[in-house]
Amino acid sequence: MPEMLIRNADYLVTMDDTRRVLNGADILVRDGAVAAVGAGLVTEGEVLEAAGCVITPGLVNTHHHLYQTLTRAVPAAQDALLFGWLSTLYPIWARFTPEHMFVSAQVGLAELALSGCTMSTDHLYLYPNGARLDDTISAAREVGLRFQPTRGAMSIGVSDGGLPPDSLVEDEAAILEDCIRVIDAFHDPSPSSMCRVGVAPCSPFSVSRELMRDAAVLARDKGVMMHTHLAENDEDIAYSLSNFGCRPGQYAEDLGWVGSDVWHAHCVKLDPSEIALFAATGTGVAHCPCSNCRLGSGIAPVRAMRDAGVSVGLGVDGSASNDAGNLVAEARQAMLLQRVARGADAMSAMEALEIATRGGADVLGRPECGRLEVGARADIAIWDVSGVASAGSWDPAALLLAGPTTVRDLFVEGRQVVRDGHVVTFDLQSAVRRQNTLARELSEVA
Ligand SMILES: [Zn+2]
Repeated sequence: MPEMLIRNADYLVTMDDTRRVLNGADILVRDGAVAAVGAGLVTEGEVLEAAGCVITPGLVNTHHHLYQTLTRAVPAAQDALLFGWLSTLYPIWARFTPEHMFVSAQVGLAELALSGCTMSTDHLYLYPNGARLDDTISAAREVGLRFQPTRGAMSIGVSDGGLPPDSLVEDEAAILEDCIRVIDAFHDPSPSSMCRVGVAPCSPFSVSRELMRDAAVLARDKGVMMHTHLAENDEDIAYSLSNFGCRPGQYAEDLGWVGSDVWHAHCVKLDPSEIALFAATGTGVAHCPCSNCRLGSGIAPVRAMRDAGVSVGLGVDGSASNDAGNLVAEARQAMLLQRVARGADAMSAMEALEIATRGGADVLGRPECGRLEVGARADIAIWDVSGVASAGSWDPAALLLAGPTTVRDLFVEGRQVVRDGHVVTFDLQSAVRRQNTLARELSEVA
């Protein structure tokens, strides 16, 4: 790949080890990586002017259910609590096909890209009608985002005392077999990897204790990461206490679900001892502030987690519980929510941006991403701060206080995904039309 120089940005927010913010800075990209950062750089290759812009590392999304972009704002689920919300949506999701998985992933990833995201995970835990993880991986290849899909699973249906309908749960041996299949087929451990696969039973209340344990053994045998939902709300804690006789942190620890190769979504209700456990073991957290607000789950103790040394990233969560998928807006929400809980000095705009970039990359085991320094992958978001959203700002680098919520340009592994505010890697408008047709068909049967 030839060189590319992005030149003369008003601000370059590096998120490097000393968190430098450079003025009038350039960034040189070569072979998918950052080759140089500084002023007055030159190239024989392509040049992109970035005057009037703020450059940040690409944002990292650590929790999503992309298929849910087909069930945004479903009326019966708009005002329900978590368990009632799931019971409303399960029968709709049970009608999904491979095409639903593919199109919804395309649309969801494109929405993320426009909001500055260069790397996303996905938690796909239901596989009706022949759907496979492969469907979303194909979509991510088209969109061009760095992708860390996880092979989710549910195995305890209604007839076994679980929440999901029996038609959406799978046999546990088949789940583990398919985990091995997708890891062998798609997992690339290299530093420049565009696809790393993880193992992700849906939650402690939708799979057995044995599957949680076996999944952890399998993931460690294969050298891949592990992900699930944990301690999301009060109902979740009550379920854990009454069914497992312990809090979620203890349950996770007993089954091997702590460590730097594990990250848990939500963790709204972690208590101080669980925060200490996560810090001591390097266990990561995907903080999903909009979803937590939307479902009334509470305010995750992110300030306490960060102060204790817990690795925290940001997630938009599924589009049935957000219902948007704008990652930079999510970062602003994270900042605001800590301030609601702890006061105006609880979290700065720059710290929230750090969680959304470097923090998320670290949670996903990708320390070569989420920062702009020599040797890092060239995952770059360029924000135009010459427009109305930043007009009058005294500190345009404080994007989360006053700034645009979509990027001007976005590069992943040095390849352009968004140009002048438009996704250029595939035909997004066609995908959106198809998505709306599929959603309408689902709503007509519901
Ligand atoms: Zn989730």
